[in-house]
Order: sequence, then C-alpha cells, then structure tokens
Amino acid sequence: MPRIVYVNGRYLPHRYASVHIEDRGFQFADGVYEVIAITNGKLVDIEPHLDRLNRSMGELNIDLPVPRRAFGFILREVIRRNRVTNGSIYLQITRGVAARDFTYPEGLRPSLVIYTKSTKKASIETASQGHAVVSQPDIRWARCDIKTISLLPSVLAKRAATEEGVADAWFVNEESIVTEGTSSNAWIVTTTKELITRQTDNFILSGITRQTILKLASDAGLTITERPFSLKEAMQATEAFTSSSTALVKPVIKINGVQIGDGQAGRVTRQLIEHYLNYMDNSF
Ligand code: PMP
Repeated sequence: MPRIVYVNGRYLPHRYASVHIEDRGFQFADGVYEVIAITNGKLVDIEPHLDRLNRSMGELNIDLPVPRRAFGFILREVIRRNRVTNGSIYLQITRGVAARDFTYPEGLRPSLVIYTKSTKKASIETASQGHAVVSQPDIRWARCDIKTISLLPSVLAKRAATEEGVADAWFVNEESIVTEGTSSNAWIVTTTKELITRQTDNFILSGITRQTILKLASDAGLTITERPFSLKEAMQATEAFTSSSTALVKPVIKINGVQIGDGQAGRVTRQLIEHYLNYMDNSF
C-alpha cells in the first residue's frame, strides 16, 4: 500500500509528493507546523493543536489555506488513506510560492502538506524507558512560542547530543536556566515531590502535551509549580522527564552524565505516563 501525502488539495503517493523550489518554506523556513499523536486511529488533542496552529499563523501573518473546520476532515482522510492506527500526523503550512525575495507579496496562496507516520502503540513498559540528555546552549530566537519550521538550533543540538552518545539535549539559556528540550518541554520533580516545569512565554513552545499533563497532574492532586529551574537544580532533581506529542512522557535518567534519582523512571513520572496513556486511549 503506497503512503499517501496531502499536498495542496491533492492526495498523492509519497514518491510524487513535492513542493515548488521557490516555496518560501524551502527558501526561508517561512512556515509553521504541528505534529499530532494518533492513538487507536484517533487524533489526540486536535482542537488545542489547531488553536496553536492558528496562533502561530496569526503571529506570522500567514492566511489559513483551508477553513479551520476542513482541517479535521483532511487530517482524518490522510489517516484513513494510510490506515494509521497508532503514530502521528505532520502538518506544515508555508507562506506559499513566490520569486525569492525577503519581502513577500500580498495574496500568496499558503502551501499545505500533511502526512502520517505509523508507530507501535506505546505501552507502560515502552513509555517508561528513560534516556539520557546533555545540556546545550539555547541559541534560538526570542519567539520560540511560534511553532515555526525554522528548526536549525534543534537540529544542531540533537546532533551534538548524538555525538556525545545520548538521545537528546535540553536547552539552557545564559542564566543557566533550562528552557526546554530540542523538541519537547522539560520537567523535574524535586526532593519535596514538587512537579516543576517552566512557565510559558516567548522563550519556549507551549506544548499541547505539557498543557494536558498539567491538567492530569492537577487532577491527580500533585503539587505543581510553573517556574524557571536551573541546570543545577535539574541535575539534583529526584525525577526528570520531557513531554511531547511524539515522545509522550519520556523519563530523563541522566543529565550531563549525572544520574537522576535511581536511574529509572521515577514514581511521579510513572504515574503521569499511566495517566497520559489512559488519556490518549480515551481520545475521540
Ligand atoms: N518544545 C519544542 C521546541 C517542540 O518542538 C515541541 C514539539 N514539537 C514541544 C516543546 C512539545 O510540544 P507538543 O507537546 O505540542 O508536541
């Protein structure tokens, strides 16, 4: 069965799916994206994802390529045509095609590309497997709240992590504060069992998984504080994890070579993994 990709109104086999060389996404990374998890064939948190997409586009003054209500239909159609049960769907909107120039003309037709990725359904066991991270300087811009396709700092930080033999990196700013992961939000649990994640502002992406976990953690009666935490504090934490639509709740068991807790997913992290997997299972 060929993989099917949606490109500007057409459902094309993956190998024929392409965009113009003067698409501003290709030339300037002038575009935005979303990644939404799929569980049991259902989209997880589609409305908050579409809200964030809308906001990102508003901030960059890119028009909607199709009306908002059409997104749900197209996303589900791509899932159906690819027979995806578990995995994720990638959606990218760029400003459109124009002769290469930093200034852009009015009235461009935005490009819309959507495709899926199938993965095995996460279980408590697979989701609880932790990984190590290293810190990397946060060299990104001051609008990390916009989910743009301009991801070079994350590419370089992940590459640096790979070279150090670990799975991922956490960005740390000039004040030694952990901002977030290369493609995830960062969390720690303190010795006093306080769950901490950085508050949202223009220096991090407001993760949809982050929002959902905050709600699940609050429902579970956990003590939560949204505040900056330093790299030092993270390295002394009893638990650490990241959150994202693709990695879900991912235990972080080593930071810069220092073991966190007992080197396995901690109690609070496990509890949140369980709650989050249940939450995903109840998506509709
Ligand atoms: N921060 C960054 C920089 C990211 O790229 C992502 C995932 N795209 C996240 C956080 C997590 O966002 P979400 O939970 O919506 O996947």
